[in-house]
Amino acid sequence: MHTDHTAGLTSSWNTYRIYCSDVTRELAIAKLGLRSELVVGLPLDEPVTIKLDEVGQEMMTVTLIDANHCPGSVMFVFEGYFGRILYTGDFRFCERFLTHSATKGKKFDILYLDNTYCDPKCAFPSRSSATMTIMEIIRNHPQHKVIIGLYSLGKEVLLRAIAVTCKMWIGVDATRMETLKLLQMPDVFTCDVDRTKIQVVKTREITKRNIQMWNSVEPTIAILPTCLYVGGQNPYENVPNVFVVPYSDHCSFEELRSPEMSDNYAMQNCLAGNISEGKSRIGLDDACDMEKKNSGVERNIAVPASRRQESDSVLRAEVENGIENNDFEPDQDTKGDSSRLESDTVSKIEVENVCKDNNFDRPRC
Ligand SMILES: [Zn+2]
Repeated sequence: MHTDHTAGLTSSWNTYRIYCSDVTRELAIAKLGLRSELVVGLPLDEPVTIKLDEVGQEMMTVTLIDANHCPGSVMFVFEGYFGRILYTGDFRFCERFLTHSATKGKKFDILYLDNTYCDPKCAFPSRSSATMTIMEIIRNHPQHKVIIGLYSLGKEVLLRAIAVTCKMWIGVDATRMETLKLLQMPDVFTCDVDRTKIQVVKTREITKRNIQMWNSVEPTIAILPTCLYVGGQNPYENVPNVFVVPYSDHCSFEELRSPEMSDNYAMQNCLAGNISEGKSRIGLDDACDMEKKNSGVERNIAVPASRRQESDSVLRAEVENGIENNDFEPDQDTKGDSSRLESDTVSKIEVENVCKDNNFDRPRC
């Protein structure tokens, strides 16, 4: 439940039901204040049937697969009159995806792909390799306090690995501890800063000024586990005591292009073309955008009458209720651009805070 996916979801959300994993449901209610009756938690790995109209005439099946990204994140496999769709959401590739009953041997008509790092420049190691790099940095600085910059959700597995290997508590603030308790993983974390030399802060707190300030109190290094700057300019390149380690919860370009992915998810059509001509069609400027492709010929899908009526009545209700209920939804024509702007805005704000403080040019991200 990263913020670039929750724009407009606040306690005032009162329209459509949101379907997600049970973990995301808990987080959405606790952290965003969504009304519990509007958030439906679905089990992982089992096909669930959902009505597409009020009369129950038209149904679809949805299967949730753990996306190997952050707690609660899932891929969706939809099956119905429209064919079979894979919506990856943010994900990091793992072997399990290939053997899952919802994907193994299946052909998908439409693929919605997380293309955050879909650029040949985005080559980075596995998470286990990046974890070892981080351990090495910590081991090489036995007298230093270690500050780790993270977003408010994700990379808990990395923190646990550091705690177990270094035999140290991981210091977190009260808000993150609340999240960790919801995730039932508070075991290696503490809010007592005197108890540990490893402290987690928000990514945006890792600035040149803060590093200097922390070092005026005691020797301190900062670690940023992120691939945000891979293939672009790293704004921390010349900042002493800051280590940017390419640890990612998204696929590398190589993983997106792997034969396993192409074969199993019919990605060949999605990723071929300009990339094979040596040009990246989906550049870093498009990071965080989702790419939609069908895997073959154009299809004409006949929308069932009951489903058409349902859509019409939703539209009528929207027209009658006016903009009041939908002020979080951009106009249909500008929807793509608006949601893109939202995710870019998040990145820009964070980057600009860092850059302002460090006196850097804005990096490409
Ligand atoms: Zn995410």
